[in-house]
Amino acid sequence: MATSLALAVPQDVERVVDTLIANRFEAFVVGGCVRDALRGVDPQDWDVATSAKPDEIQTLFKRSLYANRFGTVVVSSGAHEIEVTTYRVEADYADHRRPEEVAFTESLHEDLARRDFTMNAMAWRPTPQGGELVDPFDGRADLEAKTVRAVGDPGERFVEDALRMLRAVRFATVLRMRIDPRTADAIGAHAALAATLSGERIQQELNKILLAERPSTGIRMLSDLGLLAVLCPELEICKSIPQDKAVAQDVFEHSLITVDATPALLVPRLAGLFHDVGKPETFADGHFHQHEFVGESITRRILGRWKYPKDTVTAVTHLIRNHMFWYQADWTGSAVRRFIRKVGLDVIPDLFALRRADNIGSGIRAPRMYALEDLWTRVQEEIERSTAFSPSDLVVDGNDVMRELGIGPGPEVGRIIAAVFERVLDDPDLNARERLLPVIREIAAKPG
Ligand code: ATP
Ligand code: MG
Repeated sequence: MATSLALAVPQDVERVVDTLIANRFEAFVVGGCVRDALRGVDPQDWDVATSAKPDEIQTLFKRSLYANRFGTVVVSSGAHEIEVTTYRVEADYADHRRPEEVAFTESLHEDLARRDFTMNAMAWRPTPQGGELVDPFDGRADLEAKTVRAVGDPGERFVEDALRMLRAVRFATVLRMRIDPRTADAIGAHAALAATLSGERIQQELNKILLAERPSTGIRMLSDLGLLAVLCPELEICKSIPQDKAVAQDVFEHSLITVDATPALLVPRLAGLFHDVGKPETFADGHFHQHEFVGESITRRILGRWKYPKDTVTAVTHLIRNHMFWYQADWTGSAVRRFIRKVGLDVIPDLFALRRADNIGSGIRAPRMYALEDLWTRVQEEIERSTAFSPSDLVVDGNDVMRELGIGPGPEVGRIIAAVFERVLDDPDLNARERLLPVIREIAAKPG
């Protein structure tokens, strides 16, 4: 069953395999790293499967750690942390999720048979002739044909672990493959099981889809296979909301073009995907009044469900809330600075990136596209010229106010700082100590 094949495997990884073999255990490099090495891509992490039991692995490698109860020992060898795992079959799939327990086996074949897709179910080991590939499910042929195919009966495999359905879409998106029709049909039949997945596991796969070159491929696939309706009905329903855009006939299509046009970073991608998710609820007479605020709260709920970190949620929802800004050429410098203050200096690049993508998703070209770029230019000019976009950027602070006026802490100090800041927004040149101290006295003389 083994084919001879040389594979570029790092020396320290080969050394771990060699050590196990020299001690009369079986050992192979397995899984995603064999797939990636065959694709000519340097794998992120290296996995080794072996007939040795965890305690035997630990005895052989001094720098090792038995971190969990799934039979995986992490071995530090040279540049890599290698996960060395005893051959196992997974028993007891509770709730279509990760197995609660594992059972060890003596058989490599059984270990490969429990893996999700044929291209992930290959094993390789070095031999004196160069190396050999064990590929019982023809994963190499599927990889070359760019086909994602479940190992064994697809339906059974998705019932065992519903995450595999998302992984299929993720691999198809990231590796630009298609899902084999039988495997795809089984996903369609079992999509409802995705409701049992934990938010963390969903998030992990979704992030990989979003960071792919064309995330729309994956989101569209999730929808076509019935997974999106289960995981994110809020986005699925956007398909039924007509939108008269030059390049998109409904809010879902518009969102997909937009997400593809955002920079490949998580926050702008999430914002691009969900920026109009408030439209279905606000749809009336072809207008979507205040959809950015409704969209903000729906997105907060979705991202919370998928356990996104708080700062990611804050950044994404902030972009969505502010994405409807408008501009007219007659804005004063003060109006531009107030715009910067309102949205926040730090988010300006992401906010413009989102709006550019949104415009692409709407088929907007000149002259409305120029208006956005005009504002961008003016914002950059103000950023270069002005020194204060929030009260903390002032060259004076509350202590200066108290000292200058001979008063103690209290609300009056805050009132004066806020008023000073308003004056600086009108005239950035005021933000110099000798000019602001008189302003403080002047404001104090006019009680608020
Ligand atoms: P990535 O490039 O994201 O690391 P990967 O295929 O290496 O992709 P891992 O999560 O690192 O994915 O898992 C390593 C291997 O373990 C997979 O290649 C596959 O053989 C197996 N595997 C992982 N998750 C599952 C699962 N849910 N069901 C069955 N086998 C799995
Ligand atoms: Mg991996």
